[in-house]
Amino acid sequence: MSKYSPRTQAVHAGEAAEGTILPVAPPLHMANSYLVDAGEPFSAEGLDADAPYIYGRWSNPTIKRLERRIAALEEAEGAACFASGMAAITALFTHVLGAGDHLVMSDVAYAGAVEYTRDLLPHLGVSVTAVDASDNEAVARAIQPNTRLIHVETPCNPILRLADLSTLSSIAHEHDVLVSVDSTFASPEITKSLEYGADFVMHSLTKYFGGHGDALGGVIVGSTSAVEALRARVGVHAGGVLSPFNAWLILRGIATLPLRMRAHSESAMAVARFLEGHPRVERVIYPGLPSHPQHELACMQMRQFSGIVSFQASGGVALAKQLQERMGLISYAVSLGDVRSLLFYIDTDEIVDSSFGLQGAALSAYREWAGDGVFRVSVGLEDPDDLCQDLDQALR
Ligand SMILES: *Cc1c(COP(=O)(O)O)cnc(C)c1O
Repeated sequence: MSKYSPRTQAVHAGEAAEGTILPVAPPLHMANSYLVDAGEPFSAEGLDADAPYIYGRWSNPTIKRLERRIAALEEAEGAACFASGMAAITALFTHVLGAGDHLVMSDVAYAGAVEYTRDLLPHLGVSVTAVDASDNEAVARAIQPNTRLIHVETPCNPILRLADLSTLSSIAHEHDVLVSVDSTFASPEITKSLEYGADFVMHSLTKYFGGHGDALGGVIVGSTSAVEALRARVGVHAGGVLSPFNAWLILRGIATLPLRMRAHSESAMAVARFLEGHPRVERVIYPGLPSHPQHELACMQMRQFSGIVSFQASGGVALAKQLQERMGLISYAVSLGDVRSLLFYIDTDEIVDSSFGLQGAALSAYREWAGDGVFRVSVGLEDPDDLCQDLDQALR
């Protein structure tokens, strides 16, 4: 290098030794392009899982390591990561659905996903029927000759209503319709959706997978052929790829996913039981409680019951403000799946107006679960006794 000028050395000095290092922990490959053999094809068309690294929007060793790990946990053939959960969902919808196609969508789900199917998909020529995904017959009735996909979320945000994955998958497959499951609230530790017949599983890696409230990320899991086709068509061309740094953080988070899910689930059960006995609380929704309307299905489909507890208490926004001011340990914030406990109030009128747009029977069905609003608690890894005490003093 000494024969070159400082300007050239600033670009190239010190590069050669890297290839011989064999770190035990996963390295972070912050590279956006790779040395290639002359003659390698210069197109993402026909890209397969073993394609060489060419360009960072196609693949990256840190992201690939994360994808292999997620596929292993879901017992799936393939996984494709994206910049966020929403980038993953929209990539899936854009890949599977085209003008003239029809989507059957959970009428209660992550607000961003609902808004996308309500506002953007129709604009692209895709028609959408929103349906209570806990009602198998309603889902079956919603299927049309041009239906290509049924998308459900279980447990769903924010009321923790469940969808019966094996029944819905059989109904869908009788009609040659694909099923995708947003399993963010469950994680593969709790439900492996492909086991129940789903074709695609989606996760916001921002939540339990990353687990530490820092990185955004998303993933679509499924068969190798489906996932690689999705990656080549929409991952590469729409370009919403995960940052290698976030992949590295999420990889580090995943190492403790099984241990964290056990702790989140055990603590959430303790918090749910505590809230169910609390004088200020009117109703607790938690799949692990016998009072959950689908507790039986939860026991069949969920190995544990995860870390999210929703509850109703009179007072609405005023109580939310009180909790925000008085809670010492639990943060008043959106998101979930963090090591820290988070609480957020979801007002029924507000979310119905801004996102769900429910009317008539669908609105009554939502109100049956949510009343005027629910307080959603993402139970973190703190000692559950401390969390119960914090909620108790803040609720009084
Ligand atoms: C957070 C979340 C999403 C969206 O994920 P982002 O990473 O925020 O884009 C989708 N579905 C569910 C159930 C979520 O909780």
